[in-house]
Amino acid sequence: MSATPLNALSFDVEEYFQVANLRGHFAREDWERVPPRIEVGMNAILGALERHRSRATFFFLGWIAERHPQFVRRCLDAGHEVASHGYEHLFLQDLDPAALHRDLERTEQALMAAGAPRPRGFRASTFTLTRRTWWAFDVLVERGYVYDSSIHPVRHPVYGVPGFEPGLSRVEAAGGSIVEFPVSTYPLLGRNWPFGGGGYFRLLPGAVTRALAARLEQRGRPVALYLHPWEFDPAQPRCPAPAFKRWRHYLNLERTLPRLEALLASMRFGTMAEVVAAHAPAIAARR
Ligand SMILES: [Zn+2]
Repeated sequence: MSATPLNALSFDVEEYFQVANLRGHFAREDWERVPPRIEVGMNAILGALERHRSRATFFFLGWIAERHPQFVRRCLDAGHEVASHGYEHLFLQDLDPAALHRDLERTEQALMAAGAPRPRGFRASTFTLTRRTWWAFDVLVERGYVYDSSIHPVRHPVYGVPGFEPGLSRVEAAGGSIVEFPVSTYPLLGRNWPFGGGGYFRLLPGAVTRALAARLEQRGRPVALYLHPWEFDPAQPRCPAPAFKRWRHYLNLERTLPRLEALLASMRFGTMAEVVAAHAPAIAARR
């Protein structure tokens, strides 16, 4: 077995009240007044990674890094990668290139003020890097990002780039190129099916997730999974959202931690940047 981990684990560090699914119930101007819960999830995640001697990438919102810099430092002290999830969870389709530059700069400053190096990786809010917002690659390259993990190569009513290369690939942008490392999907019946994290991780039995991940690994494709701190916090306050949104947000929250631990026991994970660097020579040019 090589010393380089084949698979990448990542966490989008945001509060339960910043999730796109519950957007209608927590106005942006109310964020400051909602009691924070980030510590519950971060403690659970950092503890599990320590027990299994795994490393991961934490895509922090700049808003979180400013208010809770101790979590940035704890991630760095434990050897994890700190990357950017943008400042305040805005959708790329609501920005233009100048606004994305400002949002990224503000996030970079928050991360670096907390002690992190300049971030090399970016994940947009809610997979909003689509054909409509392709210009974001130019901005990321201009700002020196090495990889992006914002494309979900699935069919979905709101996001997704169906047919996009589901493994690691290189995207040519105006000022150079950048590696795209999408979260994992599984190919079946001519389509890519999401299973790489979030709601799908909580919906599918743990054994199914582990089996799909193991099959991708056997095919030589690095697995990229993602979760959020709020998914490790079964005691979070309940929000009176419509039934489907509640189901999506609160489903199986008590199972996230044991499932993650079972996964960490069965596969080796590292940071997104490590996996990108290990595969860089083999990533084919595309577009
Ligand atoms: Zn997010």
